Amino acid sequence: MSHVLHRMLGKTYPVAEGGAGVMLRDRDGRDHIDASGGAAVSCIGHGHPDVLAAMHAQIDKLAYAHTSFFTSDVAEELADHLIARAPAGMDSVYFCSSGSEAIEACLKMARHYFVETGELKRVNFISRRQSYHGITLGALAVGGRMKDRAAFAEMLMTGHHISPCFDYRGRRPDETAEQYGLRVADELEAKILELGPETVCAFVAETVVGATLGAATAAPGYFKRVREICDRYGLLLILDEVMCGMGRTGTLHACEQEGVAPDLMAIAKGLGGGYAPIGAMLVSKRIAEAVRRGSGLFPHSQTYVGHPLACATALAVQKVIERDDLLANVRRQGARLEQRLRERFGNHHHVGDIRGRGHFWGVEIVADRASKTPFDPVLKLNARIKEAAMERGLMIYPMGGTADGTAGDHVLLAPPFIIDAATVDTIVERLGDAVDAALGTVQ
Ligand code: PLP
Repeated sequence: MSHVLHRMLGKTYPVAEGGAGVMLRDRDGRDHIDASGGAAVSCIGHGHPDVLAAMHAQIDKLAYAHTSFFTSDVAEELADHLIARAPAGMDSVYFCSSGSEAIEACLKMARHYFVETGELKRVNFISRRQSYHGITLGALAVGGRMKDRAAFAEMLMTGHHISPCFDYRGRRPDETAEQYGLRVADELEAKILELGPETVCAFVAETVVGATLGAATAAPGYFKRVREICDRYGLLLILDEVMCGMGRTGTLHACEQEGVAPDLMAIAKGLGGGYAPIGAMLVSKRIAEAVRRGSGLFPHSQTYVGHPLACATALAVQKVIERDDLLANVRRQGARLEQRLRERFGNHHHVGDIRGRGHFWGVEIVADRASKTPFDPVLKLNARIKEAAMERGLMIYPMGGTADGTAGDHVLLAPPFIIDAATVDTIVERLGDAVDAALGTVQ
């Protein structure tokens, strides 16, 4: 019997034993194309020699030093690297070990900013339904996936949720995408007015919604309107780019394509590319200055903040991305991936929507295309597709539909930035076979 709790109990999993490039090998010697980068993590693939060399060099020198005693060259250098490439107005970085922790840091920093500036009534956070911000209690409170929250609802700080910007299921037939985007952005203003503008701390949103909606990009103009509303009422904009950021959509930060800069931003997965557990909060100058002028401290330290080995690893990953111009490959192969997905699934009876950007694509499977009716969640179609894909040597990230019909089953593709054209074609071919095989088991 296994003693680990981090997976479905009672189920047998293959054992991962090695990885090279876009492939992961299991103990039985089977190779799997990592078409989801795990959970949109492995952005430069597995076993990259430059990253391994940087990790070895760092661990030979220094693995750990507590930040209350020392800083380290690598933490300083990684912060400099990130700020030099950050959205306009960013100033400082707080390092942590995961995406959930990066979100927690953003929530606390937003509140801390208003404590520093004397706006003490600002305690409310507004976020969106059908969003995912992590699994810790603060992240769950702003998260909008109700089934994650259900058992813990009474323990969570009050969440104030508005509609997501989800074109496929949200836009009315009489609206353009732009009109729809402005309509749902204006829900933010309505919620601020309902709560009282002087009580609202921040709005939290994924720039491109990942796990819950499968690479759902916002309508054009949505985030610009959101930014205007935040500025009008003096609340902060927190962008969660834990999954969609660090190059995944073809620019280093997804918000570059929306023409907005946040006040606080959470990054993680692609930062360390799976080689080390690391996340970060990026902080704008306005906030950093307020802390410098005020108490001089963000009261939120953790044991592994700025961990030298994690920082050296992330720095090496980011240098590989830049040196090899991998974002150009994301744009190039991302266009091919979209084209192949549309060829294979565009006329498929059970594919309702194909959406995404760069190396971040979602395919939504529905029972009825015309009415967009999802399959009954009890069928767990997404799990069947995952299993059929694994049988074909393909890793994809599946998500179930919701019982209220606001989302269907979907699969998320988030391949490493290094993939070539032939691998893109193989991914779509295997996915097509897996979807059809899984559908065959529920019809
Ligand atoms: N935010 C988003 C958008 C995510 O997709 C995730 C994880 O999937 C998180 C936060 C939480 O990150 P972690 O699982 O590293 O805690």
